Amino acid sequence: MRRKYGAPFWDLHRVDVQRALASRATQLGATLRLGSKVAHIDFEKPSVKLENGEEVEADLIVAADGLWSKCRENFLATMGKSDSPLPTGDLAYRIVLNLHEVEDQELRDWISKPSCQFWIGPGAHVVAYSLRDGEVFNLVLLVPDDLPEGVSRQPGSLPEMKSIFSAWDPILTRFLDCVSSVDKWKLMHRPELNTWISPKSNFAFIGDSAHPMLPYLAQGANSSIEDGAVLGNVLGAMSSREQLPSALRLYEKLRKKRGETIVKETFAQRHDFHMQDGPEQQKRDELMLSQLGRISSKFPSRWQCPEVQPWLYGYDALEETTAALRETPLSG
Ligand SMILES: Cc1cc2nc3c(=O)[nH]c(=O)nc-3n(C[C@H](O)[C@H](O)[C@H](O)COP(=O)(O)OP(=O)(O)OC[C@H]3O[C@@H](n4cnc5c(N)ncnc54)[C@H](O)[C@@H]3O)c2cc1C
Repeated sequence: MRRKYGAPFWDLHRVDVQRALASRATQLGATLRLGSKVAHIDFEKPSVKLENGEEVEADLIVAADGLWSKCRENFLATMGKSDSPLPTGDLAYRIVLNLHEVEDQELRDWISKPSCQFWIGPGAHVVAYSLRDGEVFNLVLLVPDDLPEGVSRQPGSLPEMKSIFSAWDPILTRFLDCVSSVDKWKLMHRPELNTWISPKSNFAFIGDSAHPMLPYLAQGANSSIEDGAVLGNVLGAMSSREQLPSALRLYEKLRKKRGETIVKETFAQRHDFHMQDGPEQQKRDELMLSQLGRISSKFPSRWQCPEVQPWLYGYDALEETTAALRETPLSG
């Protein structure tokens, strides 16, 4: 990451990412239709039926409709199956602070000099980073889920939120004093799918609809974009429609295992970050303290650990697809 992009992280506001993707897609000739909710998929034609009754046919349908995927529901129904999002046991308080709203000079310095900060403790952790050239500060507080079953989002109580972190780093508690309102988001995941492509090779999953994860490695959107990049690259290599089945098989081969491995790593990261006080936590902290300031060392965080960081954060979708296509050219 450092070599290629000149920085260990690049933090973007999701609105900016969506605008950039929409603008590039439009430039490349895509038509974006807003407010077009998919109600049903016909996997034979294939076609999608919108909630307004309109039916849209295509050669390939890409399910990119997130955690609560309607496409997934329809896909599993063709096999007489169903699954639904499962609680992970954690929830997130999501906070965005604007520099102009913060008066405390020390906190203003934190916001305006971009960096990525973690605080970890028993059963919880916090991630904070600057966005938009140091004008905005994003804070995500990850704590045990106490939302009722079936409730995925609810306004949170500031005193309750602050009480969880009252004995933590004073810098963090001062940031929390700047917050005027907050929502609680239940963090959900889903079981692995047997396949990401339909039997007729006319439908494929990408993103959270296939592999929702805990946001503990900041990889949900990243890996969704990777899915899109690999799918785009294999489709771009096709020279005839007959090659679609082999293109989708290659896409699934390149992405499914990786996506599902990242999901598992996010749960492993929760274990390492959320340890209760005790011998295991003390060993982790000793190791962490002994490694501070070094990059190429065994660190109890997948963000720095050399066994995970290179494959997770040093991934190049174009390079991987090009090599795979060289090894196994599309058939059909
Ligand atoms: C607290 C938190 C922090 C996170 N932090 C990070 C991070 O730092 N880095 C990172 O990479 N990821 C992060 N993520 C994960 C990231 O938000 C998701 O992985 C990502 O948004 C998934 O993208 P997606 O396009 O697959 O799905 P989504 O972003 O959920 O998009 C799905 C789209 O489909 C649309 N849709 C849904 N149903 C229908 C329908 N029936 N018809 C038509 N359209 C429909 C929705 O309106 C939406 O626009 C975080 C998540 C959480 C909860």
